[in-house]
Amino acid sequence: MISREILFSILKNKVELFNNFSDKKLNIIIDGSRLVTIEENETVIEEGDKGRFLGVVLSGGVKIVRVENDGTHRVIGVFKEYDIFGEIALITNERTVVNVIGSRHSEILLIPQSLFSRLLISEQSAISYLSRLIVQRASEISKFQTETKSNDYRRISLDFEKRKQILVINCGSSSLKYAYYDTYKPDEPFKGIIERIGEREAIHKFTYMGNEQKSINFVPTHKEAFLEMIKVLSSDRFRVFKDPCDIDIVGHRVVHGGDKYNSPTIITDEVEEEIEKASIYAPLHNPINLIGIKESRMLFKNAIQIAVFDTAFHQTMPPYAFLYAFPYEYYSEKKIRRYGFHGTSHLYVSLKAAEFLGKRYSSLSIITCHLGNGCSICAIDHGRSIDTSMGFTPVEGLIMGTRCGDVDPGVLIHIMRTEKIDYNQLDKIINKFSGLRGISGLSNDMREIENAASQSNYRALIAIKSFSYRLRKYIGSYIAAMGGVDVIVFTGGIGQGSSLVRSLSLQGLEFMGIEIDEDLNKRADGFKQICDITAKGSKVKVLIIPTDEEFMIAKGCLDAIKNFEITKEINKITPIPIPIEVSAYHVHLSRDDVEKLFGAGYKLTFDHELSQIGQYACRERVNLIGPKGRIDNVRILGPERNATQVEISMTEEFKLGINAPIRASGDIEGTPGITIEGPKGTVKINKGVILTLKHIHMSFEDALRFGIRDGDLVQVKVEGERGIIFDEVLVRVNKDYRLAMHINTDEANISGIKTGDIGFIKSVIRRD
Ligand code: ADP
Repeated sequence: MISREILFSILKNKVELFNNFSDKKLNIIIDGSRLVTIEENETVIEEGDKGRFLGVVLSGGVKIVRVENDGTHRVIGVFKEYDIFGEIALITNERTVVNVIGSRHSEILLIPQSLFSRLLISEQSAISYLSRLIVQRASEISKFQTETKSNDYRRISLDFEKRKQILVINCGSSSLKYAYYDTYKPDEPFKGIIERIGEREAIHKFTYMGNEQKSINFVPTHKEAFLEMIKVLSSDRFRVFKDPCDIDIVGHRVVHGGDKYNSPTIITDEVEEEIEKASIYAPLHNPINLIGIKESRMLFKNAIQIAVFDTAFHQTMPPYAFLYAFPYEYYSEKKIRRYGFHGTSHLYVSLKAAEFLGKRYSSLSIITCHLGNGCSICAIDHGRSIDTSMGFTPVEGLIMGTRCGDVDPGVLIHIMRTEKIDYNQLDKIINKFSGLRGISGLSNDMREIENAASQSNYRALIAIKSFSYRLRKYIGSYIAAMGGVDVIVFTGGIGQGSSLVRSLSLQGLEFMGIEIDEDLNKRADGFKQICDITAKGSKVKVLIIPTDEEFMIAKGCLDAIKNFEITKEINKITPIPIPIEVSAYHVHLSRDDVEKLFGAGYKLTFDHELSQIGQYACRERVNLIGPKGRIDNVRILGPERNATQVEISMTEEFKLGINAPIRASGDIEGTPGITIEGPKGTVKINKGVILTLKHIHMSFEDALRFGIRDGDLVQVKVEGERGIIFDEVLVRVNKDYRLAMHINTDEANISGIKTGDIGFIKSVIRRD
């Protein structure tokens, strides 16, 4: 093995990339990296791997091998001593499309990507060197890139560059649910729950390595519950950790994040205050969650505390889905709107569905049904929650164990008036005595109701029918909302356990392409594993996926830390200004459609260049004809694309009479079509009209300067008196892109932003 001194000297003197790195940085790199020895034909990076390392060949050499469709191996490059590899994944976020294999006995340094990106940010000469290298190498393999893209699914794992011990905390009014994860042994969590806190006998149940245990004790308050948890975890018997100070991260499930938080967030005093403020929306939950946070801050002194909000995933809902039709001031002044809950579970099972099917998450339309004690359903359109059944509180939507779900609000007033009850009593009725319990009069537990129904108990029969009917209506409406669905997922106690409910909610929907295999459905054990209950020939996949909110919280915590680290680096450098461009509606045309609109062999005429290199406005114009009206003289942007795409904003949606989803450019599956009129003909496209997600274009070099990758979602602050913050801005990296942020006309108008304003990236919100 190479000694540390030699390794240091190689990096400093032989590897061009590190020429200007300080000794301190080189030492950080050496400390954080892995030195591996490989033999001839041993694989270092396999095709399909999510690139996680930058490799440096210290001795020997590696070859880059592409496996052709017919299975033959083709060597497309060789790297020798002191060359680096794995650099493209630093900015693309794509899976590797080649294999890196040892040519002979070699020694390789594997530098974790996140560590390297961070250290690179302020190194201008290394950035320039690397971006030149990426441009050159990316063009060599670019012809392979698109082939794997549509199947690029994310594997959700607790991968992290260093070992982290994570404790997940979920405080209920009389319970403490927890889970411990070690990123070195992610498949061996320790999970437990202490119930009946404050009662005479609290029950502590826990599971470790498949063994279930139970103990009974008196646990007067949450404080003692935390001590009981620590006692068990650090006991000689389990030795999960020695001391509470060993815990690196505590992830807290927090029910309500208001409209402020759309991703897991490191808890500071300010965040704690915001959680406190949001207590007025979730008076039963947030104060208890805060007790857990305060206890943890005292007990786990070395840990970073992170809040993972139930509401965060649904922050992508568009206003027309989250607004109640009340006077607008209730929303704008009092924040009364739909928030949605169970976000962690909906996110987890939808990611799992994409992983199970081997499909890219952002290419799927997914409906997830979380049916536990609380029930909610969510429409996830190409990676974004666009609607969910719970609203301002978790009472809206589906029928639940004890909650009523959707009712006529007039009924509530009627009940208060005629029963002469106050809001406290009404609160109890809709939260505790309704739902399955209310209708059946027996229980809130679906198992008991199914039992009673099998004895022909009328109210049990009607409870099951009502429950499934409401669910079925919601599924139908979410298919309508997304204009189709690829996958339906069931989870939660009822979703995983009741074949009857699954069957009743989907039966007879074959005309929608949904068909389940009743036999598979009946036999499925949805508590054990993912079950595919799709019938042969069904267009829509139907899956049962055991939810795992604790795992998702742990993963959310790791993501938050990674994003925090990048954000910290971004904020260290002099802010890089990003010019904002307001893009008016426009059309991109395919070759085929150019010919149909302008005649055979017609070539579009260049009019003027756009800020993005290679892109230009054309002299020709077309007319758009929608169901309601038309817009004439619409600009065409060149060059031609593979598929025709029409980018509009809400104003044009109204004029044309079209409902277009928010999508990344190029992602047009399941979007509405439109009629386009040209001088020589008319084209009716059946998909392609979108509202584009706000996005930033940047070059490879910019991406390295920002420490940002293609596909990242970032938060952008726009300069000016009003200090507007955009929370969900997509980053697109391409060698020909020039740094600019694009927003559409409506977004510009509503926020008072114009072309030429300047934005700054404040933080990374999500990275796949
Ligand atoms: P929570 O929402 O509190 O996390 P769960 O997801 O565990 O709760 O769901 C609990 C509910 O699931 C129970 O009240 C019961 O109605 C239902 N349930 C659990 N197992 C089954 C089963 N095998 N069949 C039908 N319903 C079940």
